[in-house]
Amino acid sequence: MKAVIYTRQSSGDDDYSESVEVQKANCIKLAKANGLDILGEFSDLNASGKLYPAGYDDLAGKDVCYQNWLKDVSSRKTCRIGLGEVFKLLSDIDYIIVDDYTRLARPLSGSFLDSLISQNLIAYKVKVLTVKSGVVDLNAFNDSLITALQNRINDHQLSILRKKTIDGLKRLKDTGVNKQGISRILGFKSTGRKHEIESIPREIEAVKFIYNQYLEGMGINEIARNLNVSFSDIFKEYKADRQIVRKTLLRPFYCGYIYDSNNNLIKSLQVGDKAFISFEDWMKVNHSFELRKVTKKRSRHNWNPLSGHVFCGVCGSKMIMRGGNTRNPFYSCLQHFKIHAKPCKNNLTISIQHEYGQGLIEAISPLLVLGVDKKIKDSYSKNTFKTDLNILTVELTNTLKKEKNASKLYLEGLLDESTFQGMLRHLKKIKEELNIKILQLKEQISGEDDIEKLYSLRRRVSRNDISHREFEELFVQTVKKITVEVDSVHIETIAGNLTLPRQRISGHNLLPYFSFTSLDKTRVKVYYYYGKKREIANVYAKNQVLTTLGNLEVVYLK
Ligand SMILES: [Zn+2]
Repeated sequence: MKAVIYTRQSSGDDDYSESVEVQKANCIKLAKANGLDILGEFSDLNASGKLYPAGYDDLAGKDVCYQNWLKDVSSRKTCRIGLGEVFKLLSDIDYIIVDDYTRLARPLSGSFLDSLISQNLIAYKVKVLTVKSGVVDLNAFNDSLITALQNRINDHQLSILRKKTIDGLKRLKDTGVNKQGISRILGFKSTGRKHEIESIPREIEAVKFIYNQYLEGMGINEIARNLNVSFSDIFKEYKADRQIVRKTLLRPFYCGYIYDSNNNLIKSLQVGDKAFISFEDWMKVNHSFELRKVTKKRSRHNWNPLSGHVFCGVCGSKMIMRGGNTRNPFYSCLQHFKIHAKPCKNNLTISIQHEYGQGLIEAISPLLVLGVDKKIKDSYSKNTFKTDLNILTVELTNTLKKEKNASKLYLEGLLDESTFQGMLRHLKKIKEELNIKILQLKEQISGEDDIEKLYSLRRRVSRNDISHREFEELFVQTVKKITVEVDSVHIETIAGNLTLPRQRISGHNLLPYFSFTSLDKTRVKVYYYYGKKREIANVYAKNQVLTTLGNLEVVYLK
């Protein structure tokens, strides 16, 4: 790797720096430590950091801010010759080594110099290696933002910003006290003294109950119903409803945290050691809410977990749910619906257990075994996950460091409040994504218990005994696409494809019923059979093997 060293000593009006000799010695040491070949050393003496590199007179001439400043300074220098030489070498080097990033530039606010430098560094993929603060890679969003901000600061601005910041700080200082008041939070009440709270044991039992039920896969409505039964002493006047359950599940208060004014999680001083839900459980719950946001578009009254995955086999268009306000919503071709063209005639009931057949949701449910099997397989490949986890943990640590750096700059008055908050929001997003990935990996890594849970889930899938949430999660992991034909349904899964015949009895065009058999510990067989609900599969009928998907053998009896 090749590098050049650049040093600059200021004209004394705008900043302090080490002498050029000291800077140079520092840079050489750093180059050696990093094994870099030094192609050249360049200096500008008595030169302001606001000056353009030589060779950019055109741009400098158009920079009004800069020209105004130039008029007022006594210096005879109008550019930096040394930096101009560095710019000529950009295509040949990997690094510019400087004592401190401000040696490169300390531009006027509003001057183009900042952009000139960063655009060139990005275009030539040149990184800046600094003695004082490590590598600056302008291709990385945060590095480039932080340096842009650091550079923009001059002493005059600094004093204005400091004052603003101190005012801002007072406002921003979060105390970890819940501002909404405590009265409406299940589980706690005020002691009467300011900001002091105490637990209500019976209500805490109810909160724990909500979390446990949710983590076991129970739906929100079910939990609300169960609450009214098991905790009728609490929910006397006001019955528990899904709103209460939802709020309780999303509230970080129970694991000892609250959201501050930037929407960051901070420790709640009020809860302190009264927290009784583990942070991991709370994250699991919130993660599952996030997943639902992404994977489902559920109408208020009708469950439509296959949404977005169902297509018309006649014209290829997406199928949408219609009849959502009736008892039997069905999938219908969107194209046909839009242009009132010749009907595709392949409408299919979404969910039904009818005498003459069943709906799409019911008929595809055995395939979810494939999703469970994938989870089981994944949980055995722990080692890869562990490596991934290490990488993510390092990334998270780095993000936290950046956050700390930004806070430091803010506290020193080097960042204004709105920029600081912008950065925090950006970092928070990264942090959340990392946290979710880490959590997912940790879930997959964690011990034998989970495998046991997965086997039990597998058994429940074959008994058609899973919650809506489990169905949604397994469905998106199992099925890629469903194409509905007039006489069949074609299902693309992670383990291969299956074409399931539809059955037409008494004017209904639904899907066949099925029954499960275990072949051995892992392999299962599902029989779809032609006929009415109460009819039993005619095992003497000729088996038509439809396909084998992973551990799942699918046959059709007619
Ligand atoms: Zn169509």
